[in-house]
Amino acid sequence: MRRGRLDKAVRSAYVRRMAIRPILEAPDPRLRTISTRVEAIDDDLQTLIDDMFDTMYDAPGIGLAAIQVGVPKRVLVIDLQEPESDEEGAPPVKNPMVFINPEILKGSDDLSVYNEGCLSVPDQFAEVERPSVIRASWMDREGRIHEEQLDGLLATCLQHEMDHLEGILFIDHLSRLKRDMLMKKLNKARRAA
Ligand SMILES: [Zn+2]
Repeated sequence: MRRGRLDKAVRSAYVRRMAIRPILEAPDPRLRTISTRVEAIDDDLQTLIDDMFDTMYDAPGIGLAAIQVGVPKRVLVIDLQEPESDEEGAPPVKNPMVFINPEILKGSDDLSVYNEGCLSVPDQFAEVERPSVIRASWMDREGRIHEEQLDGLLATCLQHEMDHLEGILFIDHLSRLKRDMLMKKLNKARRAA
């Protein structure tokens, strides 16, 4: 076998490899898949995680589950990209977080409401109620186990992303009437595009 030679364009694309994967959109049935546990932290997983961050930042979004790019594995990436200071116009600072095989150990009775959106339900938003404080465990991309109490937007976002692992979308938390309205709007926007 001969070793292939890469031409210049291919080689530079290879070096600056930035991989944005297509995001599945509702009502794609693959979004209903129940994702399986990650058993090994290998190169394929690291590539998947890198691609998920590229895809999420490009969209842009603050959270993405692997199934949203068609991979039914229990992997999530989150970056709330919150401004460093409360100062208005302060640039967001990247704080990439990886959640492998996440579990919610406890959720508060106290609920909070957030106007949620989802990269798989483009440009549609609705208020969803979820426990405001959760105790969660997960593994990071180096294989370290974490167990922490989370609140605020991070708690909301993690619960939204974890729903994806069970094939659940945020619109499933709405009344049927609201959900149908939202899907109608989504289809209308698609036809107009
Ligand atoms: Zn989502």
